[in-house]
Formats: sequence, structure tokens, C-alpha cells
Amino acid sequence: MNIEAVNLPILGREEISAVSSVLRGGALTSAANLGGSRVRSFESAVSSFTGSKYAVAVNSGTAALQAALYALGIGQGDEVLIPSFTFVATANAVMSVGARPVFVDIVRENYTMDPEDLERRITKKTRAIIPVHLYGNVAYVDRISEIAKKHAVYVIEDAAQSLGSTYGGRHTGTFFEMGCFSMYPSKVVTAGEGGVVVTNSREYRDRLLMIRNHGMTKGYDTSILGLNMRITEMGAAIATEQMKKLPKFLDTRKRNAILLTELLDKISGKDDDIISLPRPRKGENVNWYLYTIAARRRDLLHDRLSERSVGSAAYYSTPVHKTPFYARIASAGNSNSNLGPSQMRLTNTEWAASVVLSLPVHPGITIRDVKTVAGAVRDAF
Ligand SMILES: *Cc1c(COP(=O)(O)O)cnc(C)c1O
Repeated sequence: MNIEAVNLPILGREEISAVSSVLRGGALTSAANLGGSRVRSFESAVSSFTGSKYAVAVNSGTAALQAALYALGIGQGDEVLIPSFTFVATANAVMSVGARPVFVDIVRENYTMDPEDLERRITKKTRAIIPVHLYGNVAYVDRISEIAKKHAVYVIEDAAQSLGSTYGGRHTGTFFEMGCFSMYPSKVVTAGEGGVVVTNSREYRDRLLMIRNHGMTKGYDTSILGLNMRITEMGAAIATEQMKKLPKFLDTRKRNAILLTELLDKISGKDDDIISLPRPRKGENVNWYLYTIAARRRDLLHDRLSERSVGSAAYYSTPVHKTPFYARIASAGNSNSNLGPSQMRLTNTEWAASVVLSLPVHPGITIRDVKTVAGAVRDAF
């Protein structure tokens, strides 16, 4: 059963009893500046796990990105550089604060933002960069940091998919101003719906606490723009239990990924349908949120796998700039817009959209399941 899903939430007695205890207590949420007790426990679990000074929980990964953009004062007239090869939430968060997303191409090695293309697309209006640690692969943070410093722009990490991934021993989300995680059910840990922003800055943390609660500090004293981004105590209680299980989840994902690579390596030498397997770079420890291969006849492979009840999925077969909404903005062709057709040359993005396929390695997958997945890939062509 588990093998049919590329990812699925893994819940147990602990989550059930944590939620029950919230329900019995009756305090389902708290509009206090610091939030309720489960929210605070969840936040301290996240900051101690990632090594960030602060964590501020919100009700989705999208809200985490919005809150971070608000905290930096990004809005009308500002450009924010993001990859197009991401979940649409990255772009939508930028649009929602009135700023303009400018799409950057990716590199083929790990599907994250191409630093060379990034630098080319910086203008006077660029205020921030949002690299995405896609699939749990760590973006080229060293180069991005040099570029950000040189051009004096902020960096917000979209770490929605990369909780637990590290580079040089440092957790994703903690390299720059702020890092945003998602606790959607398909992610490595869940809250039902939820997100969290990590930061080492006291100033940003204080602002984030206000932003998630209508810009208030003590109540009815709105002094900056905020919204209701509060996560429920039930959600935070689930996520707190999930954080305790995270190290184990990550170990199982890694075990599965290593075995899958070993088995697929034997096939891919002979089979040029498989273009590449995921290869973390030196110093990088990925969380294996998505084990993603590049395959020539990707859609055929997907169909053959599904015939054998092996789950697989293409994240993302439509890059953001090709979705109807963003394509329409581009073709509106407003000449002073960086979202215009000229910036839509995203060669590697379009290549990736046509070849990527993610295979199941989540913690519900056994060693036997991994062998079944590898065997099904072998038999597919
Ligand atoms: C899941 C995800 C988000 C949004 O998180 P939600 O909790 O679904 O709002 C943002 N960016 C990326 C890359 C994601 O995968």
C-alpha cells in the first residue's frame, strides 16, 4: 500500500493523544503574542533541531514565505528572484505582497537555482532572492551568498521541502535572513497544515510574531501590516510529536535512497533511458524528501510503474512560468516588466520539467519495497 505513494504522512498514537489532549483542554488556539503552549513547544523543537536562534510557527509554508517577505518590507515595485522550477507557492507568495517574481533558471545537477543565471537577472529593482532547496537538495548557497552580498539583496530560503538537509553541517533555512518550512501532509513532517520561519535575528523574530497576528503585540495595537497566520494548537501538537520522530524518518529515507541508488546504478549503465540519478555533492546531506531521477521516456516510465502499483510523480511537469496565470502575465508583455517574454528562456527548467520523476523512499517504504521499485524501473523499458 505504502509503495503507491511517493510521500504520505506517518502518524501514530503519539499524534492522536497529543491532539486529544488539546481538545480536552479546550484551548484550541491562542492570539497571545507568543502563541499557545503547543505552538511554543513546536517552535523550540524546530529551533533546536535546525540550530536557529528563533522559530515562528504559522499556518502554512505559503504563509511562512509571505510573513518573511512582509518582515523585510518587500512589496510594490520590488523584484524577487525565484526559480520557476518549484511549487507555485513560491511565486504566489511574492505576488501576494505586491512584488514581482522574476524567474531564474536551474542547473541540471540538482535542479536548484543557477547562480550564473541569477546574477544576470539582477536589476536595480531586485530586493530579494528566494532559492528553493528543491526535493531536499541544497541550493548553491555559497555562490548565492556572494551574489547577494555583492548586490546588497536579501535572501529568504524556501526550505519547504528540505527540513533536515544540511550543507557544511549547517541546516537549510539557516544560511540567510530567514528560512521557511512547510508542514503540509506530504512534507517530511506534518501539522495537517502548517509552516514555520526560522531566523537568527531578534528583530525579524519580533516582527514575524506580530505579522502572524495582525501586526499586534498586546492586542488591538496594530503597528505593522499582518494577517491571521496563526497555526492551531492541534496542528502544533501534531507537529511537535512529528519533530520527535524526524531523526528516525530521515534515517529511513536515507537508507532507502542509498539502496535505491545502488540498485538503479546497475540498470542505468545499460539503460540510457535513465539520464541521471540523484547525487548529493560533497558536504551536502540531503533529507531525501523526493528521490528524483531524470528519465528520457518519463511519462511511459510513470505509466509502467503505475501498472505495477508503484507510485511515482513528476514534480513539476509544468514549471511556474508555464502555468496559465503566470504565462498570461508574461504575454501581457508590459515592456517594463521583468516577467515579460524575454525572461522566459529557461532552458534547463523546461528540460527538467520533461524528464524528472520522483520515486518513493519515504519512511513507510521497506527494504523489500525498494527492491520492488527498482525491479519495476528495470522492467519498464
Ligand atoms: C509545499 C511547498 C510550499 C508551500 O507550503 P504549504 O504548506 O503547502 O503552503 C512552498 N514551497 C515549496 C517548494 C513547497 O514544496
